[in-house]
Formats: sequence, structure tokens, C-alpha cells
Amino acid sequence: MKNECYIVRDLMPSYIDQLCSDESRRFIEQHVKGCASCSHVLQQMRAELNDGEKVELPSRIEQKKPFEKISNLLKAQGNFSQFLKASFWLSLLITIILLAFSFNNFIPWQENQQEAERVEQQRQEMMDKAFAALPVEGLPDKTALQTVFDQYEEQLQHIAVFAKEDVREISSLPAEPSAMFPIDYEKALLVVGENGEITEPIVPNEYDIGTIVMASEEKLVQFEYKNAYLKTVENAHQTKYYSLKVWELFSLPLAFGLTTLFIFAIWSYQKRIMKPLRPQVG
Ligand SMILES: [Zn+2]
Repeated sequence: MKNECYIVRDLMPSYIDQLCSDESRRFIEQHVKGCASCSHVLQQMRAELNDGEKVELPSRIEQKKPFEKISNLLKAQGNFSQFLKASFWLSLLITIILLAFSFNNFIPWQENQQEAERVEQQRQEMMDKAFAALPVEGLPDKTALQTVFDQYEEQLQHIAVFAKEDVREISSLPAEPSAMFPIDYEKALLVVGENGEITEPIVPNEYDIGTIVMASEEKLVQFEYKNAYLKTVENAHQTKYYSLKVWELFSLPLAFGLTTLFIFAIWSYQKRIMKPLRPQVG
């Protein structure tokens, strides 16, 4: 740094405030043109002084007070707006996650429903076929009933036909395939099972979900599911009577979805209210 530089820098504050003599002004301007270092210092000093101007005079602070109140309120509103915005996105995220979970549960739920429906339809189908194989009068034809049994040998243990008058002790005989406590096979007109023979002694299945009974005018058909198939029957039963409803499956994401909508409504209402105020203050 040259000697001249020291003088120039001493003069700089009064130069910026335009308080120095014309001679000093010319001297400084000439020097600054040729000295990058002083030119830089001058720029910095100017910038600093400009910033300093922004520091308010006490009188101006008083004047600005009412505006600042609005401004602070706006800042608070701005924070509230930020809060609403954050809440909205968080709530939306939770809704999406819960929805994903519900959909994930919905697939097996739907499969269970379809399986339950299939089991029920098949139950009706088995009964229809068994009744179709029965003669209007007289004893049932074993071969015809065996044919029906063979179609469902994966599922069935036995099909038995009873004369209605032989099972009078059962008060209400269903006209639809219904799960019932088994009727003793000793009273049956005919029983068919695997290979057309029943090797083991017939013990009624005491699991009433696994025994299905249906009565017509004259006859009554009872069939028992195979033990291996009981799990499927049990699941179908559980699904039919105890499974969640669709809306229950989606109740959580639904609740959060509504909350998200609610937050969004407040947020957009607040944004709309805030809008016309801004230009007045700025
Ligand atoms: Zn210099």
C-alpha cells in the first residue's frame, strides 16, 4: 500500500458523505481509478454506509409501529399458513400409507369373500344334485347318489338320505342347505361314501358347521364334509358371519382422508383471506 493510499482512505468517509473539498474529491477519484485496492475499499465502505442507513431513526420507528403490527400479524399468519401446509402434507402422507395398508388387506379379504361364496354355492349345488338323483317316490337309488358323491369326493365324507317322517324329532327342517347338528345315520334310508362303501362305523360329525342338511317335501339329505376340507368350510363360515365390512376395512384411511380435506379447506380459506392484505403492507 502506497503512502497515498493512507490519505485516500482517511478521506473516504467524508468523500462518501460528500463533505470533502472538490480538490480532495478529484484526488480520491483519480487515485481510485489507478488503485484497485482503494477502489475495493471504497465500494465496501459505500455498501456499509448504505446498510447503516437502514437502521431506523427513533422517530421513524414510532411511525412504523402500526405497520409492523400488521406485518407481525402477517408473519404469524404466515407461520400458521406454514403450519397448515405442513399438516396438510403430513395428513395426506398418513392417508396414503393407511390406504396402502387397507388395500394390502383388501386383497386377501376379497379372496376370502370369494372363497366363502364359492363354498356356499357349492353347498347348494351338491344339494340340488342329490335331490335331483332321488326318485319322487320309493327308496333312493344308490348308484345315482353315488355318482353325485363321486363328483365331490374331494370335499365329502358321506351323503345320507332320510325319510322326513323318520326324523320328526327335529323341529324345523330347513328348505335351504343349512349347517346343523348331525342326524344319526341309523335312521338313514341310504348312506353313500367313498368307493360306494362305508368301511368305518359311521359316527356323526359333531362339528355342526361340517354337517349340512336340507329337506324337501318327502326326503331329507344330509352330507358331511371331509375333515381335510373342514378348514375351508370353517374359514367360509368365519368370513360370512364375522369378517369386516368393506367400509370397516377402509375406515382409518377414510377418517384421515376427511381430516386431510378439512385441513386443506382451512388452509385454502386462510390463503384466500390473507391475499388482499399483502399489497397494503408491502
Ligand atoms: Zn491506493
